[in-house]
Formats: sequence, C-alpha cells, structure tokens
Amino acid sequence: MKHFDEYRDPQLVRRLVEEVGKKATRRWTIMEICGGQTHSIMRNGIDQLLEEAVELVHGPGCPVCVTPLETIDHALAIAMAEGVIFTTFGDMLRVPGSGGDLFSARSRGADVRMVYSPLEALRIARENPLREVVFFAVGFETTVPANAMSVWQAAREGIRNFSILCSQVMVPPAMRMILSSPDNRVQGFLAAGHVCAITGYEEYEPLCREFHVPIVPTGFEPVDLLSGILKTVEMLEEGRAGIENRYGRVVAKGGNPHAREAVERVFEVTDREWRGIGMILGSGLVLRQDFRRFDASGRFGINLIHTVESPLCRSGQVLQGYLKPDACQAFGRECTPQHPLGATMVSSEGACAAYYRYHRNPFLQ
Ligand code: SF4
Repeated sequence: MKHFDEYRDPQLVRRLVEEVGKKATRRWTIMEICGGQTHSIMRNGIDQLLEEAVELVHGPGCPVCVTPLETIDHALAIAMAEGVIFTTFGDMLRVPGSGGDLFSARSRGADVRMVYSPLEALRIARENPLREVVFFAVGFETTVPANAMSVWQAAREGIRNFSILCSQVMVPPAMRMILSSPDNRVQGFLAAGHVCAITGYEEYEPLCREFHVPIVPTGFEPVDLLSGILKTVEMLEEGRAGIENRYGRVVAKGGNPHAREAVERVFEVTDREWRGIGMILGSGLVLRQDFRRFDASGRFGINLIHTVESPLCRSGQVLQGYLKPDACQAFGRECTPQHPLGATMVSSEGACAAYYRYHRNPFLQ
C-alpha cells in the first residue's frame, strides 16, 4: 500500500535494528510518549528486537487513560440529566466510571451519541434547539483545535444549547513532571508526531536545555519508530541534548499556525488532574472567560464527586515509566480487558491493554 509499505519495509526495519545495536555501547532507557506508539511497538515486537540495546518505557500519552474517574462520573451525571444529548468519541463510551459507563447509561435512558468530530456535535445542537447538547472534550493537543473551532463557531452563530465537558491535557508539562522526579529513569524521549504536527516542537526546547535530554518527534510505523530510536541512541551516545525531527513529512518546527491560533483564541492554560498521576501544574486547558458560557461543568452545576480507584491498580506508575504493565501483580489475573481495574487496561491505547493484546501476558504464553 503506497505511503505505508515504505514505512513497514522488513529489510529497512532489520537494517535499523542492526544500526541501533551497533551504536549503543550500553542499554539506554527511552520513553515513547504516545499510546499509539506503544501499541505499534508491541504489535511489531520492536521492544523485543531491541532488547539488548534499549529499554522502551511507556509514557502517559493516552487520553482515555489519564482522564480522571471523577470526570467520567461527571460525564455520566450530565448524560443522565433531563433533555441532554451527550456526544463523545467512541473510545470514551466503554470507560467505566463509578456507576457504569456511557454505553450502559443509554440502557438507563440517556441519549448518548457517538460522533467523529465536535463539529458533528455542534450540528446536532443546531438541529435540536430545544435540547442541551454536550460534547466530551477529552484528549491531548491533537484534538484541541477542533474543540476550539466548535466553541468559536457556536459563539459566532449564537448557538446556546451547545457546551463541552473539558478534560484536555498537554504533553510538555507531563514530560517535565517525569524528568523532575528523583526516581526518573528516562534518558530520552520519542515525542508524539501527531501532537507535534499541531504544536510544533519549539516548546520542547526548554526541557532539552534544563534536563539535558534528547527529544525526537516521530511517527507510528515501524520504520518511523526505529529511525526515531536510532537518532535518540546516537544523541545519547554523543552526550547531546536537543531536538531532532524524524517525522518531517508531517511535523514542522512551528506546527500548524492556524490550529495554534484557534486554540489560543478559545482556551487558556490551567492546572489539571491526571488519572493515576495527580495534579500537574499548567498541564490542562480551560475555556477563556469570553467562552466560559460553553463550559458544561458550569452550565450543569456539577457537584464534587468522590471516587475510589482500585487499590490493586498501579497505572500511575505505568504511565510514568516506573513499572512495566506485566510487573503489576493484577495483570492478567484480577485485571484483564474484560474486567479492567484501571484505565491503562480499558483504553485501546493503554499500555496494559497493549501488553495483554500482544501476548505479553505470562499466563498466555
Ligand atoms: S494491569 Fe490493570 S491493575 Fe495493573 S496497572 Fe494495569 S490497569 Fe492497573
């Protein structure tokens, strides 16, 4: 398949694996940020191919995984409210809150609809002026521009029955938190190519300077990932910090200026709670005062909901690279995709789900 085969070429993959082996004089610890990258690494066995040269640890870049349980409970409470049409991307439908998931809320009478874009949710609001339409705005920098556009468009058209439940997070503050920890093991990063396509990579430069780490934006195909890993290993061997873009066909240094402008116009930075990790300063986005009327949590007057996570779940440690999923005592026993104890098992992008799916389960081997 054109535009894919060249990034899955087995000969090129073998050559890159050999190159990494030749360059590495010791075993380096590299974190891939994005859950999509984690799944590609597992699916293609890249971690096993590089076992002697590189330890790959898995980062927090899975939006479903880091959305707090309280936020999912808020979503359920809003979805159950009289007259509401609650819209969401499909990946949030099955994420369990304290009282079931959004999918099961349907069977209790909630009008929950899957959409492919917040602009689709806005269309539903336009078509249903007597109903309140809420979009569950979860995700990283990649999804924020479309959320910003939907709110901006609603304001422009004077649509009053549309709002978003906002739980948007940003990558660089999470990387700073990981690097600042006294227990940090990460020596270099593969940055998420689709995030950098929006933001560019200038904002990673202070991290490189302050923590003396290499950061390499890369993609999701085996050749992308391996060429990113090779570049990171080369920089580590040279003792060099900085950014080297290995996803040039998608990522430009300044990102997408139109998307950045849309985000800047509608959102401002705030502190945000990450599931399993806790509060990360300056890691979230909230609607600016001019657009605050589109904030669903204000509109529906959500009260504080107290939630309790499973005491067995160690997903916070998984998300920060301290623990591999199969080192969790509950992995494959009490916790499976059918009965997940934590979001890293329930999400299709979660590291625990990736280990389970690609047979890293010691009980399946
Ligand atoms: S295997 Fe399950 S219980 Fe263990 S960290 Fe992952 S999600 Fe949590």
